[in-house]
Amino acid sequence: MRDAAIGEVLVQPDELARRVRELGAEISRDYAGKEPVIIGVLKGAVFFIADLMREMDMHCVVDFMAVSSYGSSTSTSGVVRILKDLDMSIEGRDVLVVEDIVDSGLTLQYLLRTLWARDPASVEVCALLTKPDRRRVELDLKYIGFEIPDRFVIGYGLDVDERYRNLPYVAHYTGTDVD
Ligand code: 5GP
Repeated sequence: MRDAAIGEVLVQPDELARRVRELGAEISRDYAGKEPVIIGVLKGAVFFIADLMREMDMHCVVDFMAVSSYGSSTSTSGVVRILKDLDMSIEGRDVLVVEDIVDSGLTLQYLLRTLWARDPASVEVCALLTKPDRRRVELDLKYIGFEIPDRFVIGYGLDVDERYRNLPYVAHYTGTDVD
């Protein structure tokens, strides 16, 4: 795609595929004999979750949540509204939350509190990307795809005003309409 706002490619498609394969193998080992509920956070995690689940060699089920931050589109306030809740109960289940990116961590912190309140057996997180320099809360991310510097990125699910999700790589965004 030709678009001047697509900057340097940070993670190439083959690197994404290799890391997703490794994560899938690790998760399959860790959850052997269990049947986790994989929870995707819409919409950004959809691409990652679809690839990741096909690398999981075990029974698992998937459900989705949609949340919206009360902050601006690029900086979160930590106050989160649930737009779409899970369809299934997670009581007594092993839960694996799959996130596209963890930035300040505030959205995820809220989500984890909400999920723990439903008495699951366990809750772990698999994040494709994290920006450790931006973290504002202490979070235990069991599975991490890539640590990236503090710059706004797009592609492989990540958007700017709903655009760019379909890029097959992760790239810096050099456009101006991000605050
Ligand atoms: P947090 O609550 O961790 O600060 O924010 C997480 C959410 O902010 C992500 O789920 C994502 O929607 C958005 N976000 C944070 N950093 C980026 C980024 O570099 N690119 C895009 N497209 N979204 C981001």
